[in-house]
Amino acid sequence: MTLPDRAALGTMHGKSAAIAPPLARLGITLVVPEGLNTDQLCTFTAETPRMGTMEDAARAKARAAIAATRLSVGIASEGAYGPHPFFPFLPIGREVLLWRNEETGHEVIERLIDEAPCYDHATIYSADEATAFLLSMGFPRTAVIVASTGAGATPLAKGLQDRDAVDDAIARAAQLSAQGGAFLQTDMRAHLNPRRMETVGRLAERLAARLATACPSCAAPGWGLLRVETGLPCAWCDGPTLLVKAEIHGCTLYGQQVVQPRVYGPNVADPGQCPTCNP
Ligand SMILES: [Zn+2]
Ligand SMILES: [Zn+2]
Repeated sequence: MTLPDRAALGTMHGKSAAIAPPLARLGITLVVPEGLNTDQLCTFTAETPRMGTMEDAARAKARAAIAATRLSVGIASEGAYGPHPFFPFLPIGREVLLWRNEETGHEVIERLIDEAPCYDHATIYSADEATAFLLSMGFPRTAVIVASTGAGATPLAKGLQDRDAVDDAIARAAQLSAQGGAFLQTDMRAHLNPRRMETVGRLAERLAARLATACPSCAAPGWGLLRVETGLPCAWCDGPTLLVKAEIHGCTLYGQQVVQPRVYGPNVADPGQCPTCNP
């Protein structure tokens, strides 16, 4: 198994603090290209809308870093934060970390869900409401973004960690708003959101563990979970449910695959999860 001794990191916002240590244990030093503006590729505040999937966005950043450094391997991460698909009042974060070898096209991708991200927003009309929101979101360690209240309003100030600066931005937002309010949201850039930095670090640990696992037939790094298969049989009617039945592990370079029954949990599904028994 061969891993490079250097890889380009296509990521701004100080994420190398979280990504570098696990990779250093594999003997890989991260090179962060000077002046690579990944905000041109995407931002959280939708000033530059993201094109394609999260994987596409991470790949574009990894390739930009490869081009800037002329190394053969690039790494980049991409995050998406929003309402939980089933419990819209709860936030959820998705993070992707992608490893790409530009010479072979070999990619290793790790994904992670954060069920308790530091992601929130509020429209406020008074200093007390602002104080309550800032307290709940972990300000000032987590920075805040202030915008006017109109739909799609561009932020007036980002990355704020100083209360006077926040109050100043709120006053400016209130002047622009017909209702006199301001829209506050957590800044999701990793260096301004400690919870996100920690999540990126956990994901980097997983990528490092994945890269340390060689394919049993070709020895390429990155053997591991490729996808899951649903259809765990219902305990009553034996019909397929949407629960995970098996994990497909495989080689990320040549695609050999092994199907493993799900390791944890029962081998039949609760009928409550069955579309036939509990439609
Ligand atoms: Zn292989
Ligand atoms: Zn059933």
